[in-house]
Amino acid sequence: MKPLFHDLDDIQNRLLAWWGGPAPVREVWDPLTQLIYSIQSSRTKDAESHASLRTLRERFNGWPTGPNTWDEVRWEQLRDATIPEIEDALKLSTFPEKKAVQLKETLQRITERTGALSLAFLAKYRTDKIRRWIEELPGAGSKASAAVVNFSSLRRKAIAIDAHHQRIAIRLGVARASATPREVETALTALAPANWTAITMDDHHTLVKKLGQSLCTLRVAHCGKCPLRDICITGSSHTARTLEFPK
Ligand code: SF4
Repeated sequence: MKPLFHDLDDIQNRLLAWWGGPAPVREVWDPLTQLIYSIQSSRTKDAESHASLRTLRERFNGWPTGPNTWDEVRWEQLRDATIPEIEDALKLSTFPEKKAVQLKETLQRITERTGALSLAFLAKYRTDKIRRWIEELPGAGSKASAAVVNFSSLRRKAIAIDAHHQRIAIRLGVARASATPREVETALTALAPANWTAITMDDHHTLVKKLGQSLCTLRVAHCGKCPLRDICITGSSHTARTLEFPK
């Protein structure tokens, strides 16, 4: 499939102009905190996901609500909590009963594999090795591994493909309709300019996600208002200003 644009700079520049500037600077966490966030945030709105992470921190760290520093957060108490305790702390997230099990199993597995509950050692690995290591954990696929390497203090190159990014990449014509998140990431990475840094990729993720939350949603695409219309295979092949996508 051949997209209608040369590289991701074309997408990035249009979205930056459309939103009037870059995404807010991300609060960067250590890799383990980012992994915990990624597992519990699946299919959950950002505000609820952040609230759930704060609840986990307060309940299982004895951490006050006060200054928002994550530097010394330890997660042993979360690992050792019961499933109902974790589930209760995750009640703002979707599927808390499933995520509570995944979180506990993940933290136990990290401890079994390394003898400690930390992912700081990953910093000395190559990016592909880090991603394979993360994806062997329960509940962690390519999106979670990309988020850990790209969003956390590891700050390596990767593009995290959430549901918004997946949908928009397919509508743009970057990937076929049945593409997996990993295939979408591979196709997008091939279109990323060589000078893109980990932070540029993070910004790209955030800008596309914002488009997916506003103009290009699951059910409706407001192509008439979209800054990507003339380089989008879906938008440019219809004359209607708004497209509806039935269930
Ligand atoms: S042109 Fe339409 S389908 Fe394409 S990205 Fe924009 S809103 Fe989505």
